[in-house]
Amino acid sequence: MPKIMFRSTNRKAPLVSFKEALMRGQAPDYGLYMPTAIPKLTKEEIDSFRNKEYYEIAFEIAKKFLKDEISDAELKRICKESYNFEVPLEKVKDNLFIMRLDRGPTASFKDFAARMMARLMGYFAKQEKRALHVLVATSGDTGGAVADAFYGVDNIKVTVLFPENEISERQRKQMTTLGKNVTAIAVKGKFDDCQTLVKRAFNDSELKDLNLSSANSISFGRLMPQIVYYIYAYSRLAGDKVIFSVPSGNFGNLMGGVIAKEMGLNIERFIVAVNENDEFPKFLESGNYRAVVPSKECSSNAMNVGHPSNLARLIDLYGGWLTDERAENGKVLMSGVLKEKPDMEKLRKDFVSFSISDRDVDETIKSFYNKYKIIIEPHGAVGLVAFEKAGLNGLTVCLETADPAKFPDKIKELLGIDPKVSECLSKLDGKKEEFETIHNDYREFKRIIQ
Ligand SMILES: *Cc1c(COP(=O)(O)O)cnc(C)c1O
Repeated sequence: MPKIMFRSTNRKAPLVSFKEALMRGQAPDYGLYMPTAIPKLTKEEIDSFRNKEYYEIAFEIAKKFLKDEISDAELKRICKESYNFEVPLEKVKDNLFIMRLDRGPTASFKDFAARMMARLMGYFAKQEKRALHVLVATSGDTGGAVADAFYGVDNIKVTVLFPENEISERQRKQMTTLGKNVTAIAVKGKFDDCQTLVKRAFNDSELKDLNLSSANSISFGRLMPQIVYYIYAYSRLAGDKVIFSVPSGNFGNLMGGVIAKEMGLNIERFIVAVNENDEFPKFLESGNYRAVVPSKECSSNAMNVGHPSNLARLIDLYGGWLTDERAENGKVLMSGVLKEKPDMEKLRKDFVSFSISDRDVDETIKSFYNKYKIIIEPHGAVGLVAFEKAGLNGLTVCLETADPAKFPDKIKELLGIDPKVSECLSKLDGKKEEFETIHNDYREFKRIIQ
């Protein structure tokens, strides 16, 4: 198979290599990078994963996308370093499993993507003797995972923006207690405001010299590692096909699964579980897309996204074109304009989607604990409620994307117990925080990063 190149969902940018797509994050025409062809896995390859460890599967998958851009030995080392934690698959009852993606160093599934991406970027930055400045907007967990993953990586500076009042104390401390090459900024606004500030900086020609790069889920480098755990789950289960329920915000997690399916994994259906930001289930039903502006605040705070950035990729893959309407200077005039409709019939065959209320989330955290003695947190609970609403019978894996100990007040309030705090979280408690607070104002932000 020839080398895989990357094109933009906005169709007006030159093709680039994996390395270039990784370093840039967003394409110059404001689109998202997608592979020109998605590599396939043979049945034999998929079967062989049953006897491989997580990092070995990650290596096999990454190799397909990175062909010739990095040596096997380097890539294997990066995978092994990135995935040095467990990935438990807990049986709940017949045909229902929970995959815990919360055992990485920041107790969020975002560690899977951030750790591999940081190491790949560090590798290429060193190779090219190029200094990078990574900008990332976070709705909760990305910031901590990315900050932790890049912390101490040579040649790379990181700035994280978070909405001042929408994240938990521990989530904040994961970004504000590191120091060194990591800077944290609180924004008096919402996640979407943070994301807009970051996107504007990327398109600001006066900042060219900073070599800005993205670590948000708009980067394909974030997406690729998220293909792996779907394949890993399949390899550990005795079933021919699997349904995945995916708690979704920016749809990066979901897109990892969608690409795994395109690669040949037998995924029967995706249950796209969203909180009260219900643009996707509405779109699936009506065929009309309308972003939720401003996004709604729900207890699953890392999913408070009213216009998922990765939806552009999903719609692209299903033959449509979703883009933002922009002014000459790149300013977004309208978020999410459906220029070409995707194949709605195929979408409805592959996906079901439900918007879940905070009240249902609370009920399910309680009932789940009472029934199975399993503690889940709000994000994973959105996935479980959606699973119940979907009423599908096949073998199903619900992804649990954060450690319940990240939401101690919620768990205490609902279950009357303190969730066991993993060491990576408890060590944050006494540490000193450092961050600046800014208004939702581009000039203020620009001054800081300059
Ligand atoms: C980011 C995040 C999500 C949503 O993932 P997306 O890739 O943005 O859809 C869900 N749960 C948790 C805990 C997260 O941090």
